[in-house]
Amino acid sequence: MDVILLGAGVSGLSAGLELARRGVRVTLLDRGALGGESTWAGAGIVFPLLPWQYGEDFNRLATASLAHYPDWIGQLRSLSPTDPEYIASGLIVLPPVGEGAAAWCAGHGIQCTAVPADLPGLAVPLPADSLWLPQVAQVRNPRLARALAEAIRALGGHIEDNVAIEDIGLQDSRLTSVRAGGKIYRADQFVLATGAWSSLPLANLPALPAIRPVRGQMLLYPPGSHRLRQIVYQDGFYLVPRKDGHLLAGSTIEFAGYAKEASTETRQQLHQRAGSLLGGLPEPIRHWAGIRPGSPDNLPVVGPHPDYANLYLNVGHYRYGVTLAPTCARLLADQMTGAVPELPTAPYSLRAALARTWPEPGV
Ligand SMILES: Cc1cc2nc3c(=O)[nH]c(=O)nc-3n(C[C@H](O)[C@H](O)[C@H](O)COP(=O)(O)OP(=O)(O)OC[C@H]3O[C@@H](n4cnc5c(N)ncnc54)[C@H](O)[C@@H]3O)c2cc1C
Repeated sequence: MDVILLGAGVSGLSAGLELARRGVRVTLLDRGALGGESTWAGAGIVFPLLPWQYGEDFNRLATASLAHYPDWIGQLRSLSPTDPEYIASGLIVLPPVGEGAAAWCAGHGIQCTAVPADLPGLAVPLPADSLWLPQVAQVRNPRLARALAEAIRALGGHIEDNVAIEDIGLQDSRLTSVRAGGKIYRADQFVLATGAWSSLPLANLPALPAIRPVRGQMLLYPPGSHRLRQIVYQDGFYLVPRKDGHLLAGSTIEFAGYAKEASTETRQQLHQRAGSLLGGLPEPIRHWAGIRPGSPDNLPVVGPHPDYANLYLNVGHYRYGVTLAPTCARLLADQMTGAVPELPTAPYSLRAALARTWPEPGV
C-alpha cells in the first residue's frame, strides 16, 4: 500500500513512521521545513498541564501515550542517529494545583508527592501544597522531528519538504494524486496532517472548521543562567530546563489567526514571570511564536474523513501534539490498515469534533 501524508510536523511524521513500520510505503510532503511549525515552536513537555483538569476522552489518549513513550523513543533510537533527549526531568506544580490532583495521579499510576526540600534552582520558597511528579518527561521537540524523519527514511519512506501542494486529484469521492513542486505523486490512501492550517482549504480539499490557529509565545535563556533541573508549572506558565542548560519559558494562548509575530509586551511578561520564580535571569537569547492546531477540549481528530473514501485525518492536537504523538499515530494506522484500535475511536472522529463547541466565541 502507498500512502501520501500532507504535512511533516510531529503528527505527519509520527503517523508516517507508524505506517512505515507496518510495511506501508509512505511519502510525506510539506510546504515548509519538516517539523518547522508548531512542532518546532513548542516546549516538548510529555505530559498534559494539568491532566486532572481535562476530560476522560483526552486523558485516555494522554495516558496511553505516556505508557507508549519509552518504547516509542527506543524504536526511534534504533532507527535514527539523532537523540531526541527524552528525559524524565520531573514536574513541580506550584499552587493552585486544582481539585483532585492526588486522586487522579493515584488512579492513573502517576507518582505524585509533596516536593522534596532539596530540589535546587527556585528563588521562591516552595508552598507546602506544591506537587512533585518525578516521572514527567520532556523531549527536545526539534530533535524529535529530525529523529522521526531519519527513522522514516531508514525504513524506505520518502520525505519532501519545502514543496508547495499545487493540486489534488479527485475522482468519485476518492483522492487519486497530489501535484507538488511540479511532480505528480499517486497513492492508495492519503493523510491530512497540516496542523493549524487544516482549518484552511488545501487545493480542492475543504477546510476543517473544527480546528483553529492558537498562537503561543516562548522565551529561551542560555546555559549558565539558572540552576533549575525540573520542569516547573504554575497557573498557565512553565519553565523547562534542557539537558544542555538552556531554559525555555512559556507560553501564551492567543487567538490571533496565523500571525506569528512575537510581541515585546509578551516578552516582558514572560521574562518577569520567569524572573519571579528563578531570581536574577539574564535577558532571553531568543523569543518566538508558534501556531498550535487548536481544538475544543484539546481533542484531536484521528480517523477517516467522512466525505472521502481514502482520506484520513491526524489534526487538532492543540497543546499536546508531542505528548499524544505515539498513540494518535497508532490509532490512525490501525484504522488505515484494518487493525483493531487500542482505544475507542468515536471521540476522535471528525463528526464528534464538529459537534463540539469552543467555550465562548473567539476563545
Ligand atoms: C508555544 C507552544 C508550546 C507547546 N508546548 C507543547 C508541549 O510542551 N508538549 C506538547 O505535547 N505539545 C506542545 N505544543 C503543541 C504541539 O507543538 C502541537 O500540538 C504539535 O506540534 C502539532 O503538530 P502537527 O504536526 O499537527 O502541526 P505542525 O507542527 O504545525 O505541522 C503541520 C505541518 O503542516 C505543514 N503544512 C501546512 N499547510 C500545508 C500545506 N498547504 N501544504 C503542505 N504542508 C502544509 C506545515 O508546514 C507544518 O510543517 C506546543 C505548541 C506551541 C506553539
